[in-house]
Amino acid sequence: MAQQAQHEHEPLNEGVVFHVHDVTKVYQMGEVAVHALRGIDLDLFRGEFTVLLGASGSGKSTLLNILGGLDTPTDGHVLYGSRDLTRASEHELTEYRRFHVGFVFQFYNLIPSLTARENVAVVTEIAREPMSPEEALGLVELADRLDHFPAQLSGGEQQRVAIARAIAKQPDVLLCDEPTGALDSQTGIVVLEALQRVNQEMGTTTAVITHNAGIAQMADRVIHLADGHITEVNTNATRLEPHELTW
Ligand code: ADP
Ligand code: MG
Repeated sequence: MAQQAQHEHEPLNEGVVFHVHDVTKVYQMGEVAVHALRGIDLDLFRGEFTVLLGASGSGKSTLLNILGGLDTPTDGHVLYGSRDLTRASEHELTEYRRFHVGFVFQFYNLIPSLTARENVAVVTEIAREPMSPEEALGLVELADRLDHFPAQLSGGEQQRVAIARAIAKQPDVLLCDEPTGALDSQTGIVVLEALQRVNQEMGTTTAVITHNAGIAQMADRVIHLADGHITEVNTNATRLEPHELTW
């Protein structure tokens, strides 16, 4: 990907996975310009668990989609290691998403006609060094649900299948947009436990979007967004376990 980018930027600190510099995003809707991001500067570090917190419309999904190569900024730079994602071609972004990024969304997007194991296998079949579907589902504590279809699983179990699918290719980064948004608090905690486990056991750099401030306590760092700006960044001295969160 964009080799020339390496000569145009200072070498990154070893631990930096993403270096976001002065990123703006403007959606042009006919006559109206929507300023979704207004100058974002942010570094994310290897193995870190970050929570992106902010009200609806503050720009969280736009930022996450740009990090994941699903969208591109209007201005500014996003480095993934030494690669400038803002200069990457469509093909390079596709490769980037396929081999480096796992996504988890609010709605699980499982294929209804496939079992849990088969839903995960869809991804492991095109990955470079995948874990087995059984291993991925074991990591989210669904070893006893391998042959269940989505309709035979609870919402929280379906979301854990989606997490297993996202992590089975052993991505470097896991990007989660409101992963507990459709779940009650009890079920949400089990899903967060799965994310925490993946982060701690595989060392996957993890960013989780939420508008639920309670979840912030399980993160290493909390990035607050408002109106397209980062307004505050907090480092937690200690991370709480998901079951200790006040929801
Ligand atoms: P959040 O995830 O924090 O709720 P978003 O990043 O989805 O916020 O949206 C930020 C702003 O950008 C909102 O005002 C939203 O309406 C606008 N927006 C997001 N995506 C699009 C799009 N594809 N086209 C036009 N406007 C968009
Ligand atoms: Mg959003």
